[in-house]
Amino acid sequence: MAYQTINPYTNEVLKTYPNATSTDIESALVTGHDLYKKWRNEPVNSRSTILHKIADLLRDNEDELAKIIVEDMGKLFKEAVGEVELCALIADYFADNSEELLKPTKIKSGAGDAWVEKHSTGVIMMVEPWNFPYYQIMRVFAPNFMVGNPMILKHASNTPGSAVSFEKIVNEAGAPDGSLKNLFLSYDQVSDIIADPRVQGVALTGSERGGKSVAAAAGQNLKKNTMELGGTDAFIVLDDADIDEVMKVAKNARIYNAGQVCTSSKRFIVADNLYDEFVKRLTEQFSTLKPGDPMDPNTTLAPMSSARAKEKLQKQVNAAIKAGAKVEFGNKEIDLPGQFFPATILTNIDKNNPAYSEEMFGPVAHVYKVHNDQEAIDLANDSNYGLGGITFSGSKDHGVKVASQIETGMEFVNTFMFTLPELPFGGVKNSGYGREMSNLGLEAFVNEQLIVAVDKPDLNNLAGGLF
Ligand code: NAP
Repeated sequence: MAYQTINPYTNEVLKTYPNATSTDIESALVTGHDLYKKWRNEPVNSRSTILHKIADLLRDNEDELAKIIVEDMGKLFKEAVGEVELCALIADYFADNSEELLKPTKIKSGAGDAWVEKHSTGVIMMVEPWNFPYYQIMRVFAPNFMVGNPMILKHASNTPGSAVSFEKIVNEAGAPDGSLKNLFLSYDQVSDIIADPRVQGVALTGSERGGKSVAAAAGQNLKKNTMELGGTDAFIVLDDADIDEVMKVAKNARIYNAGQVCTSSKRFIVADNLYDEFVKRLTEQFSTLKPGDPMDPNTTLAPMSSARAKEKLQKQVNAAIKAGAKVEFGNKEIDLPGQFFPATILTNIDKNNPAYSEEMFGPVAHVYKVHNDQEAIDLANDSNYGLGGITFSGSKDHGVKVASQIETGMEFVNTFMFTLPELPFGGVKNSGYGREMSNLGLEAFVNEQLIVAVDKPDLNNLAGGLF
């Protein structure tokens, strides 16, 4: 597959990049492994100044960096600027907090003085998607840089410009060679790297399909891995919810990044007393969206990331309609050359409809009517995915009671979905396993090494057995 920037607003091929050679790969592995050995003997905080410098460079260059994302995958410029700022926040957080979070933890034990140390493990292979071209890298990069795990990056084939820019910022900040090596790899090359003994972990964010292949390669080689995959997140509106508050959040929960967010609210599950008003008001909100140049601050609907993404979504919507879904709004061609998909609302989706269980990765909202809390919970949980969700209720406690019964990794009550460095990010079921960000993400690829130490052996102390 060719690594190419094709601007999804103009359809212009802006740049094509050559694939990595086996020499490039070997050199990345040698450099990464040597760096791991060096970093192992250095304190965690020795890397924090460089990570802060990366945050500074991101902020200093945010407009230019944001424009690169817009050209790669078409998101709105203002959203791209927000993404760069979020990356800087993540870098600062891990620069400031990793030393504390990685401190050894004591264990009370009859065996003697016992504690767990957290050590780096080696080179990490990261495979990332195009929908947040910098943020997805940063979620793995910042914690592992502090831990002392060098990284090899395989970015999505349609966001090579973002991959190159991120690597450049890391280098400009003075990070040693091998801290993050971007390579334009084929799938087979990714598998070869995963099999290499110098690589000790694999982090993938992407689809269920991509996750299954890469997790299989990791499993085959007994490499620890984290999988951040897709979702069909439910946005539940309980019968006591304040519909005005709901409507402040609902549209963006689906439309942000042209609906191409793993945690976009894809299924709106609405109590029967609020259903008609919800559909009416979401329709009004969707009808005000303005497709256009993502660099123009007046544009509110960005093109999708690629022709392929748009075609796939159109096929899914067509199949949903064929199986009985009702188009409440949208699904009308937008007369612009870019890869625009109209904001669309589908209702009347029954369990046999493919739309009931598939992830639609674009601006298409599914709306369901339910008659009580239990029906909402059952419907939300009737999914092979379990990434995140939002619940709205007039009472926070009522909202929390429902939210904690949803089988997902992340739930938000009466608010939109946040992503911040201190909050763990990840899912259950086919949405994957492991967590990024927070102390959990920091510890994803550490060796939790047990140390037990006494002054001399006490042969009367055999309670735990002798091994
Ligand atoms: P994708 O096709 O799985 O691609 C993601 C990355 O995996 C790309 O770099 C892709 O490379 C690579 N890849 C795919 N198959 C591979 C294989 N067999 N071997 C090696 N690399 C492979 O995902 P996508 O459709 O572009 O991304 C959207 C999906 O990501 C959605 O399902 C979304 O929900 C999910 N997502 C999840 C999270 C989360 O945190 N849980 C966050 C964002 C997105 P190529 O580009 O070269 O194919």
